[in-house]
Amino acid sequence: NVEAALSIIVVGASGDLARKKIFPALFALFYEDRLPQNFTVFGYARTEMSDEELRNMISETLTCRVEKRDNCDEKMDQFLRRCFYHSGQYSSKEHFLELDNKLKQAEGGRQGNRLFYLSIPPSMFVDVVRCSQCCTSEYGWKRVIVEKPFGNDSKSSSELTRGLKQYLTEDQIFRIDHHLGEELVENLLVLRFSNIVFEPLWSRNYIRNVQLIFSEDFGIEGRGRYFDNYGIIRDIIQNHLLHVLALFAMETPVSLDAEDIRNEKVKVLRSIRQPRLDDLVVGQYKGFREGNTSSPGYTDDPRVSKDSLTPTFAAATLFINNARWDGVPFLMLAGKALHTKRVEIRVQFRHVPGNLYNRKFGTDLDKATNELVIREQPDEAIYLKINGKVPGLGMRIDCGDLNLLFKSRYPREVPDAYERLLLDAIKGERRLFIRSDELDATWALFAPLLEELEEKKVVPELYRYGSRGPVGVHYLAARHNVYFRNS
Ligand code: NAP
Repeated sequence: NVEAALSIIVVGASGDLARKKIFPALFALFYEDRLPQNFTVFGYARTEMSDEELRNMISETLTCRVEKRDNCDEKMDQFLRRCFYHSGQYSSKEHFLELDNKLKQAEGGRQGNRLFYLSIPPSMFVDVVRCSQCCTSEYGWKRVIVEKPFGNDSKSSSELTRGLKQYLTEDQIFRIDHHLGEELVENLLVLRFSNIVFEPLWSRNYIRNVQLIFSEDFGIEGRGRYFDNYGIIRDIIQNHLLHVLALFAMETPVSLDAEDIRNEKVKVLRSIRQPRLDDLVVGQYKGFREGNTSSPGYTDDPRVSKDSLTPTFAAATLFINNARWDGVPFLMLAGKALHTKRVEIRVQFRHVPGNLYNRKFGTDLDKATNELVIREQPDEAIYLKINGKVPGLGMRIDCGDLNLLFKSRYPREVPDAYERLLLDAIKGERRLFIRSDELDATWALFAPLLEELEEKKVVPELYRYGSRGPVGVHYLAARHNVYFRNS
């Protein structure tokens, strides 16, 4: 009955992601008493570092977030004492064998569960899983979190999956897209499946269009090398927004079990009509200088070539060919260096048929449309736009909000997405991780389009840094009779 030991091995511990996100998330879980009693964190990378140097590096980014938290320094010390480092090559069995010895020592004869987090370039993933086969403990489980990108197209993605599956089963692979760990995603399912008022409306009968928006108010900021190889479609649309769309549009799963949810997601992804080039608008931000203010353009980044055609903005309309969604446009939009940071789903409902008030008072049809907004950024909220009468004599109709603003209703801090996902991986909860057939389905949709974009060298529409993005998106929306709000 001795509690098992848990070792969390962060491969690529010297990197940015490990320092800024993974170690702070592990500390937050420790602070909240979410980690098992016998846990140890091991950093692994090629950089030479002692345990003490790793601890110093980690301590720079640890934070208790809320200032007046109890025992923060003490907790940090306790956490850092559980952190160790091993320097090694990613393709050396010998070095992983040395790591295995250290892991066994830390486990002290207990059952050893081991969670590997591969925070390294994907080209090293297969080497690491091959060489770390020796780091499988006899009785405990072994799970491996891999960071996106999961390939560049269908072929490279399948090769990566094949490579990983030579040494791991699908159950052991946790493909992470940290945006799927955000509150909006979890809330979407709760909202849909635990309120009787929404599910009956969730179809082409009442919904006119759905908008999935992911806009950032900053550019690539030093990530030019990574970004120029992938672009916004691979970075956000083909993976993150498609998964949100699948969760939004899927049929009711048999249960909340990960496999039941992922089965439904795959079905809906496979029902999406192949997007064509004219379902797409691409853009790239350009710099500007006005008086004392200036912002760099995308191609001003020294790691991006001056003639790069990589889109930093994309909007696409998708249609799902099934009975529930036939004819409903799903407008997905993602962009960098836009005028606002906004992550939300907007659901626009149909007009009231034969609306008495429209006929008598000539209300603006678009304003009269009910709209449900599920917002992650800037302030988490769920609100429903409804029409009501403005108090007073006469009859003036106005569109107001039934508003659930999370920070007012739940004034507690929201955990970082990495915290939720790391805890899920420790518990073996796979619902928010991407299964290989989901990945294949998302590539099957976008790979041909990406290939065509690149073959035809489609020139992205330039938009000013900090603007609302390319005007082309309004034409795309208008073609499908979508009233697009980009305020
Ligand atoms: P990073 O700093 O470039 O790399 C992490 C570590 O990997 C480095 O410290 C380095 O460690 C090793 N490394 C770098 N380039 C290598 C190469 N060519 N060959 C072998 N090892 C190499 O990356 P990161 O920002 O921490 O991100 C880690 C992974 O997560 C990347 O694959 C990235 O695409 C993905 N990702 C990052 C973010 C983010 O916000 N940063 C978001 C999503 C996904 P040593 O030299 O010490 O071995």
